Amino acid sequence: MNPSKGYISKIESFATADGPGIRTVVFLSGCTLRCLYCHNPDMWDPKNGVSITSEELFQRIRRFKPYYKEKGGVTFCGGEPLFQSPFLLEVMKLCKADGIHVTLDTAGVGNPHYFDEILDHTDLILLDFKGVDAESFERMTQVKESSSTLFLEKAQAKQVKLWIRYVIVPGENDTLEYMDRLAMKIKGLNHIEKVELLPYHTLGNVKYEKLGIENPLKDADGMDKDYCKYLQDYLNEQLGWQ
Ligand code: SF4
Repeated sequence: MNPSKGYISKIESFATADGPGIRTVVFLSGCTLRCLYCHNPDMWDPKNGVSITSEELFQRIRRFKPYYKEKGGVTFCGGEPLFQSPFLLEVMKLCKADGIHVTLDTAGVGNPHYFDEILDHTDLILLDFKGVDAESFERMTQVKESSSTLFLEKAQAKQVKLWIRYVIVPGENDTLEYMDRLAMKIKGLNHIEKVELLPYHTLGNVKYEKLGIENPLKDADGMDKDYCKYLQDYLNEQLGWQ
């Protein structure tokens, strides 16, 4: 891969849900995982979207800098942004050199060769948590756990702040027993600022049909939001956060 060029599927400006403050969110193409609940299967293709140079992308991020103020910045997500690590790293370096807050929305799956440098240019990780152990990770992503444990270990060693995000899928991980296991896992981590349970939704179903890809959850309902909130409260209690 030419490190000065990458593929992005879209850029969202003035986003407020993917990190602190007002942010530009960059969706990088490519993902090797096959999460049961993925609502962006169109993002799996590494060449989905448009080709752009690191400098061009940086300029598009920089354009909104006056709105970032002290909390906002850029969030890189995907797909799995680490899939394009050399390109990602180049853009991150340009952003950090310009004083822009960098958030990385990732499952921690990528080439470990780049982890240290990428983490050195990351202010906050939105950690897309896939499972409480190797078995549940594999069940949820349909691939073997590869680099995500190492990524998290390195992030912990470098004391990068974490927001943990965990998608709750009916019949998969929506039990109190599962929340207990999740709480145990989270208690073993440091530098956590937030833990969010996200209810699975079915909005991505239409994309599977359009792309002709088998949807493993095609018969599943969306997660009941009130029950998800109940699980969140229970989890917070186990974590001693309320
Ligand atoms: S990591 Fe994200 S983009 Fe990749 S399969 Fe999972 S949900 Fe989809």
